[in-house]
Amino acid sequence: MPDSLAILLPLPLAGSYDYLGENLAPGDFVVVPLGKRETIGVVWGPGTGEVAANKLKAVIAKLDAPPLPEITRRFIDRVAAYTLAPPGAVLRMAMSVSTALEPPRMIAAWRLPAAAADQIPVPGEMGAPGQAAAKETPARRRVRAVLQQGPARSTSDLAREAGVGTGVVRAMAAAGLLEAVSLPPLPAFGRPDGFHEGPALSPAQRDAAESLIAHLADGGVTLLDGVTGSGKTEVYFEAVAATLRAGRQALVLLPEIALTGQWLERFEQRFGARPAEWHSDLTGAERRSAWRAIATGEARVVVGARSALFLPFPDLGLVIVDEEHEQAYKQEDGVAYQARDMAVLRGHLARVPVLLVSATPSLETLKNVAGGRYRALHLPDRHAGAALPKVRAVDLRRDRPARQRWLSPGLVSALEETLAQGEQALLFLNRRGYAPLTLCRHCGHRMNCPNCTAWLVEHRHAGRLQCHHCGYQARLPEACPACGTAGSFAACGPGVERLAEETAALFPAARIALLTSDTLGGPRSVALTIDRILRHEVDLLIGTQIVAKGHHFPMLTLVGVVDADLGLNGGDLRAAERTFQLLHQVAGRAGRAERAGQVLLQTYDPENPVIRALVADDRDGFIAYEMAERRAASMPPYGRLAALILSSADADGIDRIARELARVAPSGPGILVLGPAPAPLALLRGRYRRRFLLKCRRDIAPQPLIRAWLAKVKLPGNLRLQVDIDPYSFL
Ligand code: ADP
Ligand code: ZN
Repeated sequence: MPDSLAILLPLPLAGSYDYLGENLAPGDFVVVPLGKRETIGVVWGPGTGEVAANKLKAVIAKLDAPPLPEITRRFIDRVAAYTLAPPGAVLRMAMSVSTALEPPRMIAAWRLPAAAADQIPVPGEMGAPGQAAAKETPARRRVRAVLQQGPARSTSDLAREAGVGTGVVRAMAAAGLLEAVSLPPLPAFGRPDGFHEGPALSPAQRDAAESLIAHLADGGVTLLDGVTGSGKTEVYFEAVAATLRAGRQALVLLPEIALTGQWLERFEQRFGARPAEWHSDLTGAERRSAWRAIATGEARVVVGARSALFLPFPDLGLVIVDEEHEQAYKQEDGVAYQARDMAVLRGHLARVPVLLVSATPSLETLKNVAGGRYRALHLPDRHAGAALPKVRAVDLRRDRPARQRWLSPGLVSALEETLAQGEQALLFLNRRGYAPLTLCRHCGHRMNCPNCTAWLVEHRHAGRLQCHHCGYQARLPEACPACGTAGSFAACGPGVERLAEETAALFPAARIALLTSDTLGGPRSVALTIDRILRHEVDLLIGTQIVAKGHHFPMLTLVGVVDADLGLNGGDLRAAERTFQLLHQVAGRAGRAERAGQVLLQTYDPENPVIRALVADDRDGFIAYEMAERRAASMPPYGRLAALILSSADADGIDRIARELARVAPSGPGILVLGPAPAPLALLRGRYRRRFLLKCRRDIAPQPLIRAWLAKVKLPGNLRLQVDIDPYSFL
């Protein structure tokens, strides 16, 4: 008698569906009919009974894949409840490679037919002409010899080992001289070794590592707080080693941009094998084999970007969130979640320790430490006595760059000295392209994106104007589209390409490299540039925030921040915190080895608390100041925020719905709803956008308020609504 089962499908639908099935357990992957097609789903539990059993369709098949672990299923439900996303949309993140659910593909291989295996034909003793054996050649003999000594091999392995072309193997197979067999695939991942010897730790590092290891069994959250270069990575590697020794899996989350070859090499040196990787650059086949190896437990350590949190680990024993303050952990598209917070949830569900690592922890984390909910470990000094760089502000109101130039005389002379000493310098500007704004000198017309409330950014190398929000591209027209004047365009403000032009004119002998996330040639060419810097084939590096993360350049002694005020202008909740973290991290690139470093911050506002704290190396002073500001405004981490973003191609319809929502907005003590307001990006990818911001007291959960709110209004089908709990972007 088949049972009624709730099956969750990896689709943004309201909930699970009931099906009939036999001999199935929660977590099993199954194929079910959905309308006219078939789809893969996961058995979630007993049927809801909402549909009569005689109306239910039956499960078509059970897939030969490890079932989705119970913890992963509970995690999916909890993430869905917290983010207000449909559980199926969260499930989709956990099974993002449906091909991994097929049984592993067997490898086609060859061996000698049983009769032939024990006789190598001797020259001169060959059979009659016309028989297969008559075509015996030295090449064929080598193929036989290889198979006689070893196991079955694939066509390409066999050809390589015998030193023959694959054609020889194929011809032998066609002539019946070889027998086909299928072999299971070889393990795709090495085994990182928890007993492999690491470096000798300093006393402070050893204390931190021992404390971490001592607490591995009790779960809980620990902040590992230490300046850049203090050995945080070495210390958390010790916790990974202990987890491996305990026979459990470990997950290390890194911001995608920090997932560099350097980190992987370090890991391999420390553990004798590479970890499994999980990020957006994997090919379909790599994704498939990583997912499968994680699900079967073959992969012991996984390093990945935020989505790795949803992988189906059967026995996760440790979660590390490196650079925990990074905004990259917040996903905005689709399911809006903060991976650091969800990592804490994942750890809590499995009673597994979570380690948050940073030189500039987020205010959220620091508040949890202050409240006693998280433990904290400190590494106060750089390893091997390397000094922290000296940070100075360059007041651009006094030390003015020349017209249409961006480098102050003070920064130029520091660059001169550094280059003269044969050391490397970095100019940091978090702006891709040549110029952020192109305007007509004649009529003042600004070149805007047709789909977004945004200026088009000139990319001179590519010869294009680009929108950094939707990817729209166009050639710069001959004449102004507004007034028709030809050749009237002026580039306003600098991007990194423009800085490269300025420095090339100032230092014609210097070898200059540009490093941005949109560098032509993608991650491979970024890696090549990093190698060139490490080999000291570059004197001056100009880069966006991609240079700030995870690279150690021992010869780099000067960092010039071209526009330290840039991130402060946006004025959102975390502008000051984020700018402090980013500039602190960029500054940390200077003087990492024996050489002392210096950092110059070009600013029009040297009295700004962020700049002052960076100059005085007073992180704790800055945090105290910023915490007080947040507390006074009841902003996170002292209050809660949630955003509702409406978008539609219909400009009138969207305002009607926004007014309706405003009428029935939640209210009460400790609850405030702001909006509807046109979003700063009021037009994005051709859709109009309106925002609400729900602000509530720390002890009030926003989710039930929002659920009740949305139940009161019927949203038309052409309108999209995104709920963002704990928003980080206010655009
Ligand atoms: P963080 O993660 O705090 O920035 P790292 O772990 O990357 O610091 O250490 C900075 C540099 O110092 C790295 O090159 C690392 O290999 C080296 N280092 C740190 N601790 C040790 C140690 N105990 N022995 C040898 N080298 C170390
Ligand atoms: Zn656009």
